Amino acid sequence: MTSSFSNLSLAEPLARAVAEMGYETMTPIQEQAIPVVLQGKDVMGAAQTGTGKTAAFALPLLQRMMKHENPSTSPARHPVRALVLLPTRELADQVAQQVKLYAKYTNLRSAVVFGGMDMKPQTLELKQGVEVLVATPGRLLDHIEAKNAVLNQVEYVVLDEADRMLDIGFLPDLQRILSYLPKQRITLLFSATFSPEIKRLASSYLQDPVTIEVARSNATASTVEQHFYSVSADDKRRALHQILKARGMKQAFVFVNSKLGCAKLARSLEREGLKTSALHGDKSQDERLKALDAFKNGDVDLLVCTDVAARGLDIKDVPAVFNFDVPFNAEDYVHRIGRTGRAGASGLAVSFVASSDQRLVADIEKLIKTKIELEPLEFEEDTPRISEQGRINDGRRMYRDAEDSSAPEPRQPREPYQRRERRDYLPHRPPAVSRDPFFDRPYEPGAPADSSPSWEAAASASPARNGVSTNIKPKKKIAALFKSS
Ligand code: AMP
Repeated sequence: MTSSFSNLSLAEPLARAVAEMGYETMTPIQEQAIPVVLQGKDVMGAAQTGTGKTAAFALPLLQRMMKHENPSTSPARHPVRALVLLPTRELADQVAQQVKLYAKYTNLRSAVVFGGMDMKPQTLELKQGVEVLVATPGRLLDHIEAKNAVLNQVEYVVLDEADRMLDIGFLPDLQRILSYLPKQRITLLFSATFSPEIKRLASSYLQDPVTIEVARSNATASTVEQHFYSVSADDKRRALHQILKARGMKQAFVFVNSKLGCAKLARSLEREGLKTSALHGDKSQDERLKALDAFKNGDVDLLVCTDVAARGLDIKDVPAVFNFDVPFNAEDYVHRIGRTGRAGASGLAVSFVASSDQRLVADIEKLIKTKIELEPLEFEEDTPRISEQGRINDGRRMYRDAEDSSAPEPRQPREPYQRRERRDYLPHRPPAVSRDPFFDRPYEPGAPADSSPSWEAAASASPARNGVSTNIKPKKKIAALFKSS
């Protein structure tokens, strides 16, 4: 049975904001998590972005904080009480926007800090006092060091998208941040999967958590209609045009595997008359936010993106997702099509499968535990034909993207134990040498569930000195320096 928000007896300003958002019934994660958080228990939640997870933690935390709500202008009366940590700037921005909407009729203040932006405006906001601070780990540490953020009154911590934070290598940063917080607090951890690393993190920082699992990880939403069309690389753009037209689609995400392919495909589609923006790792933060805003406002119809740039983005009501390239990693398929059919809305996910993609499709089949039927695609006469030479039938010069999109966007290899530089994760920063053999390997499933966390393996390989991270080099003794001279 789905229950309504009115059963929660939320404070009037919160209930008003929820009603204004148009939420009627709670999503499964909200139904399960909100009462538990209201009781003040720690939570370990398996839920992905798109399930209504933000409201599931934000509403009960705001409700609990209402006792501190006050209209004073003094910063001292608005200490940071809730800290929400997220892996990327886009996610942090998104969550912060939602928190602002839920808190808009209260005197509880919220702010977001993430890297790649000037610290000054963030500092000013922090100095004025905020009760809810949403942050990415690297930039938060910068603010802690600069004494802009004082966290000794934090009562609530949310580790959101915790699996991604570990993937990125944020563990040491998280450990440092958590060491600054009062021991007496409520900690909520959300993750798409409960890997051994996540379980270890939870056992270190959560007390007697209530485990909440709303959907199998790797499950695709049942509201998404999925199609796999057999299409040659040269016919993919034509196929895209045809499906968009046949379905009367206004907006869609188009996923590709490489940055180069992304930029070129976006240019080609733009020339073919579709309002298109590219979202990939080489775009600046500002360009990416602008592209997203343009898509949200309806100024752009197609957002061509790579996985790294688009993961976790919450854009409501995207009617369709196209896998122009079948992803190299089957898990990315689940993330990609999670952009559509969100929060109960129906969606369409179309994958274009070239003959060389059979193995990737088999991996997806295994992961989603669903038989995939490859469908043929009949072309209609009036769909633009793109010839071998890359010319459309009206004679305009076209680009051919297929071969460019075969190389995946370079990614940071997974090395959770590696100490990162003090900088927020830049998903798009290419490694100096892009031809890492890691990217040439076909997708292989991750380590078996019972294997020990990678940081433990690293730690046992080279034991820590007196509890100091093995990644921190010992300081050279001055005497040793004199000796060598
Ligand atoms: P999230 O998983 O928190 O990123 O939320 C995904 C989207 O679902 C957001 O755009 C929310 O505004 C929306 N949402 C959250 N809760 C509900 C609800 N109970 N009913 C309808 N939409 C919701």
